Amino acid sequence: MPLPDFLASQPLAFVFFALLLGLIVGSFLNVVVWRLPKMLERDWRTQAHEVLGLPQPEPGPIYNLLLPHSHCPHCNHQIRAWENLPLVSYLLLRGQCSQCKAPISKRYPLTEMACGLLSAFVAWHFGFGWPAALMLLLTWGLLAMSLIDADHQLLPDALVLPLLWLGLIANHFGLFTSLDDALWGAVAGYLSLWSVYWLFKLFTGKEGMGHGDFKLLAMLGAWGGWQILPLTILLSSLVGAVLGLILLRLRNAQTSTPIPFGPYLAIAGWIALLWGGQITASYLQFAGFK
Ligand SMILES: [Zn+2]
Repeated sequence: MPLPDFLASQPLAFVFFALLLGLIVGSFLNVVVWRLPKMLERDWRTQAHEVLGLPQPEPGPIYNLLLPHSHCPHCNHQIRAWENLPLVSYLLLRGQCSQCKAPISKRYPLTEMACGLLSAFVAWHFGFGWPAALMLLLTWGLLAMSLIDADHQLLPDALVLPLLWLGLIANHFGLFTSLDDALWGAVAGYLSLWSVYWLFKLFTGKEGMGHGDFKLLAMLGAWGGWQILPLTILLSSLVGAVLGLILLRLRNAQTSTPIPFGPYLAIAGWIALLWGGQITASYLQFAGFK
């Protein structure tokens, strides 16, 4: 039996398949989260030199998502294939470089595990089919941009914009909502945060959020339609308040430390896409409207 037919007929096998795929993709996302911001920075530096008419900086060795091969940042030992298995290698190596025994950050296996579990959950929630496949792509994209935004206060267009188009294309086929609702979702998503940004700037003279946040909400609107936007914004403030408090406790940081908004929007949008209908219905029921 071909693999797609087998996965379609065995829901549990599909969930397990998504778990394994998620672990492997999670391992690749670690590379994306680490390298993409560095690649962008290189690119911007070259462009800035060009605009300013300065001599071009040394091109330096090749650096992209595939090359050079991963190596230990401490001793430069090149990671062999068996040391690069998601989760398994971390356990086999007991969290240390095989060569110099320098500790490997727990963040790598945690990202892989999160990606695997989220993927398995999406497979279970949607069942075998196109909505699950596209939602997996969106989940991986949201995970990568959340981590990059948390590290660098940056939401790369290279991740946000292709997913915006993909959401519109998916809804051309009516996978999550109608194309009409998706279009206005993208427009309203962008404009709502854009207006907040300008109002905040007019009144306080400060920049409250980045332009990446407008594009991210536009992207979420393109997937779920304008209907998910109010819930997404509400949930993101809730997630932000809860996670923000935990982070402040953990880091013992001052309240003026910028906390990126992107990860909260991403988490809220993901929840709204999966359960938006149910959450709104039960809220209305609770408030006595139904
Ligand atoms: Zn090492």
